Amino acid sequence: MSVRERLEIIRQQVSEACKKANRNPDDIKLIAVTKYVSNATAKEAIDAGIVHIGENRDDGLQKKWEELQHEQCTWHFIGTLQSRKVKHVVNIVDYIHSLDRISLAKEIEKRAERKIRCFVQVNASGEQSKHGLAPDQVISFIKELEQFTKIEVVGLMTMAPYTDDEQILRKTFQTVRALQHDVQALGLPHAPCAELSMGMSNDFQIAIEEGATFIRIGTALVGKEF
Ligand SMILES: *Cc1c(COP(=O)(O)O)cnc(C)c1O
Repeated sequence: MSVRERLEIIRQQVSEACKKANRNPDDIKLIAVTKYVSNATAKEAIDAGIVHIGENRDDGLQKKWEELQHEQCTWHFIGTLQSRKVKHVVNIVDYIHSLDRISLAKEIEKRAERKIRCFVQVNASGEQSKHGLAPDQVISFIKELEQFTKIEVVGLMTMAPYTDDEQILRKTFQTVRALQHDVQALGLPHAPCAELSMGMSNDFQIAIEEGATFIRIGTALVGKEF
């Protein structure tokens, strides 16, 4: 199946989930995660109408960006970000989805040439293997980010456990959405927190039903070449 055909299917699924949740499909931004595919396949996605591109490693991002920077794309860094890699990433992306510690915020502040939109990553399921802040750390962390002039907290990001158990998935997404409401209630100018980055190939419909505004889809959209 071509990327274009897969995109058509995903749009259909997005639309179904929106219908269920009484939401407008225009409010869901689809990030094509291109980490497992070539530049050529990423270009195929762009030609099919994708405008958001996501990569989870600095070298992968640079490789895509070098060739595709002239396309009309918005670039997302979605993976764990080591502080020493910030300088390779921060001035070519529009969004960073994995802000989870003050040392990283400091490095972003130091290296960024303009304001950068960041998601604070939340480990809502408590899995050891997952990065991100525990839910009860999120509010104080976001308050602390006020000192950084280059960081705008546009939302919260999470990765759900890899499971088909709908209850677990829903609970994870609901935890993050409730936190988003708590952050919004603070009315912090540096943290409007209007977005939720959640939902991947196997769980994006549930994520949409639970409030996602950015979904990050790799395999189901562009496939897996390596
Ligand atoms: C790889 C990745 C995705 C996409 O995963 P798929 O299951 O292939 O859709 C989404 N978010 C993050 C943070 C990733 O690393």
